[in-house]
Amino acid sequence: MPQLRKDPVVGRWVIISTERGKRPNHNPKKSDSPRPGPCPFCAGNEEVTPPEIAAYRPDGSKPNMPGWTLRVVPNKFPALMIEGELDRRGDGVYDLMNGLGAHEVIIETPKHESNIGSLSEKQFEDVLWAYRDRILDLKKDKRFRYILIFKNQGAEAGATLEHTHSQLIALPIVPSNVIEELKGAMEYYKYKERCIYCDIVRQELEDRGRIVSENDHFLVICPFAPRFPFETWILPKKHSPFFEHASKQEYLDLSRSLRETLIRLNRALNDPPFNYIIHSNPLEEPDNGHYHWHVEIMPKLTLVAGFEWGSGFYINPVTPEDAALSLREVGL
Ligand code: ZN
Ligand code: ZN
Repeated sequence: MPQLRKDPVVGRWVIISTERGKRPNHNPKKSDSPRPGPCPFCAGNEEVTPPEIAAYRPDGSKPNMPGWTLRVVPNKFPALMIEGELDRRGDGVYDLMNGLGAHEVIIETPKHESNIGSLSEKQFEDVLWAYRDRILDLKKDKRFRYILIFKNQGAEAGATLEHTHSQLIALPIVPSNVIEELKGAMEYYKYKERCIYCDIVRQELEDRGRIVSENDHFLVICPFAPRFPFETWILPKKHSPFFEHASKQEYLDLSRSLRETLIRLNRALNDPPFNYIIHSNPLEEPDNGHYHWHVEIMPKLTLVAGFEWGSGFYINPVTPEDAALSLREVGL
């Protein structure tokens, strides 16, 4: 059973999970050769993954057989385990609990594509619906406090399998990065009685210099103080704390914004490895006016090294104004 342990000084939780060491290519330097055997995410190889949790099967085909267009399966090497009690406990100055949680993989296409940018608009829309369906289902489990949805593309961004997929982790705690963002938004709200993200949307729409694109419901910008070159955020224009409360039209517009932005990044930066993360409100907290869900995309072009680890500062060699300009000009 994995364990969640809390750093007693800064309050940051870590997952101690020895199972994860067994996953494919966990030390890429030692095994540069491609993984032997069939790709577990390709149609026809359904038996290689654990049994599916959900799937979109427009032809009405049976579970764990070909015929799907999108499939959700438990991670074969989960960082956390779904079964059991939390068992929060102390050990002197230390706090720990069982590593309870859900770790799922969203396989975005039955075909062996390594770049999500090659999927159709409809496929992107389905990916967003799958995220929403899984959040709504896992929200019923009262042990969970936060659901993190993210994508790693490319080995440098942490992907251990090439076939395009996203991941979902449901956690019994709220991660410290999320707490930091919530705190900042709340401070601003206390002072101004306005949502900081709504104010960012308003100001960026006026300034225009950091805008990559926009549609009816979303604004795509390179943020004012990006940690990484070409870091890009997708912000809903309408205030809402929860990703899973978006409307049909909003998911359609988000699928367009996300797909177009990834295509722009591919063209501007020659298919870079990247991560994207959906930032949404913790599950139990009500809408208190200050948090505004959004998507952050981070191409992996620089290394995070000692200075960044030591200081929490990031050195970024590209201004967001220049990055936004290149992304606008590269076109679609
Ligand atoms: Zn594959
Ligand atoms: Zn807002």
